[in-house]
Amino acid sequence: MPGDVGEVLISEDALKRRITVLAREISHVYADTPRGITMVAVLAGSLIFLADLIRRLPMKMRIGLMTVSSYAGATTESRGAVLGSVSLPDLRGRDVLIVDDILDTGRTLALVQTEVRRAKPRTVRTVVLLRKPGKAPPEVTVDFTGFDIDDVFVVGFGLDYDGLYRNLPHVAVLSSNAQDLDGVT
Ligand code: 5GP
Ligand code: MG
Repeated sequence: MPGDVGEVLISEDALKRRITVLAREISHVYADTPRGITMVAVLAGSLIFLADLIRRLPMKMRIGLMTVSSYAGATTESRGAVLGSVSLPDLRGRDVLIVDDILDTGRTLALVQTEVRRAKPRTVRTVVLLRKPGKAPPEVTVDFTGFDIDDVFVVGFGLDYDGLYRNLPHVAVLSSNAQDLDGVT
């Protein structure tokens, strides 16, 4: 890959193994949910994680999609979360599991959780693949976490930098010379 991508932080193999364990944890929690669950995936970052996770969840499920943007262009600095398109089945009375790629400042999940709760689901839980320490406010909680990572900007396995690198099979650190090249987009 081009010089933007630095060291591998989480290998393809480690991702696979952790997602298998996460799926077991999730199946256990929803063991008595005969009507199945409704996944609400936050696109585009959760795309790969969603695809891997749901194929390991042997239960009835529906899938809804939302887009939220927080990083405009070639920057690694969050500009606040803005809701984009929403394509959701009826969530009223449902058991909803929100799926996102990473919890950082918590702005994205605060927005998504509020939006989901407005639809009056029976339960709302959240799973994230990655979690950075310490920035999210206490009211933004996640129920399942893949990996806790340091406060570095990562790409791959769905996560992008300026729209690129989502297709990397592992999670890598963005090399420092790639960051905030245009800072003002
Ligand atoms: P938050 O709103 O919690 O600050 O950030 C969550 C969103 O910002 C994530 O869904 C993801 O799209 C993006 N984000 C946060 N940290 C990173 C990162 O290290 N790499 C990438 N590519 N996106 C990130
Ligand atoms: Mg995101």
